[in-house]
Amino acid sequence: MISAGRAGQVVVHLDGVRKDYGETAALDGVSLEIRAGEAVAVMGPSGCGKSTLLNMIAGLDRPSGGTVTVDGQDLRLLSETGLTLFRRRHIGMIFQFFNLIDDLPALDNVALPSQLTGAPARQARMRALELLDELGIADRADAYPAVLSGGERQRVAVARALMNRPALLLADEPTGALDSRAGEQVMDLLIDLNQIGQTLLIVTHDLRLATRCAGHLVEMADGRVAGESALEPVE
Ligand code: ADP
Ligand code: MG
Repeated sequence: MISAGRAGQVVVHLDGVRKDYGETAALDGVSLEIRAGEAVAVMGPSGCGKSTLLNMIAGLDRPSGGTVTVDGQDLRLLSETGLTLFRRRHIGMIFQFFNLIDDLPALDNVALPSQLTGAPARQARMRALELLDELGIADRADAYPAVLSGGERQRVAVARALMNRPALLLADEPTGALDSRAGEQVMDLLIDLNQIGQTLLIVTHDLRLATRCAGHLVEMADGRVAGESALEPVE
């Protein structure tokens, strides 16, 4: 299910990344490295730059300075179209509010990233169904997002993010809109994915969840990395 890349290979490398929005320095010189197979949690107060950091890594926006390299590709060298294609093939993203397409049933939401890369529809739908099955929601394949629970929506979003076997899964407060039980299930899912090799970068407000799912913690404050530490797993 996962394309882990070679264990230990550098998947994300940020060097002195800045992002200015007018007078605001959302990122003020962030350097960071993530290796294949790692699970890294990013924590820090609201407004400290966590989502901006993920957006820079996903190539959703361009830094004002510094370099971002993902899966060996310097993102500066890509055009806008190149960035979009690169993102589709190498990065999966999940968000607090799922960002599913309301007009499409779960299966088609999951299949979409594969179809966007030009894969035949039938093949895409088969893989989408496999993923829904692995995530325990195959019975919801034909359901539209509106009738799914929050936990089901996020599992559909995870399946969609995994569709193109991304080198990196980015999660921006993926349990922020879920009740604690659904949140725990999504976290367990992310832990399982990491254990079979998926490289993971997850933003969360919850230290307990971070400790459960990540081996490495990056603490941010005011657009900078304020501290990095190893997390000891708790049983
Ligand atoms: P976090 O995710 O940690 O809450 P963000 O990365 O969303 O923080 O935001 C960091 C800072 O950058 C905040 O001061 C925010 O207001 C600002 N910011 C983020 N995105 C934009 C944008 N598109 N335009 C202007 N300011 C932004
Ligand atoms: Mg944010």
